[in-house]
Amino acid sequence: MSHDPNCIFCKIVAGQIPAKKAYEDQDLLAFHDIHPWAPVHVLIIPKLHIATHAELGPEHAALAGKMMLLGPQLMRELGVTGGFRTVINTGPDGGQEVYHLHMHVMGGPRPWLKG
Ligand code: 5GP
Ligand code: ZN
Repeated sequence: MSHDPNCIFCKIVAGQIPAKKAYEDQDLLAFHDIHPWAPVHVLIIPKLHIATHAELGPEHAALAGKMMLLGPQLMRELGVTGGFRTVINTGPDGGQEVYHLHMHVMGGPRPWLKG
């Protein structure tokens, strides 16, 4: 399934739910987390509905590479100079709440709410 009508992040991709966007191209969207853990907290998602990191396959190698490269670029653009933290939660034991693959990228001066 490339789009799940019940998925909240697919709804953000489709413009049905508003989000504060930080980056968009044909494959990826990045937006600010609604409940940030850090002064800067963005989520990078593929526009394609992929439920979890565990569902990524070799056919997604280029997409996964783009996601990995976007984090540092966004942190630079958002003025994060002291380093940042990248997290992907996978499945129930990984603490995943939204089942559309997303990479948290968090930065800014500490203390942070979590971690
Ligand atoms: P997870 O626990 O699945 O890794 O993280 C899901 C993240 O999505 C949480 O940090 C949560 O605050 C964020 N989130 C959930 N719903 C929305 C939403 O509608 N808009 C935005 N911007 N973030 C959301
Ligand atoms: Zn989705």
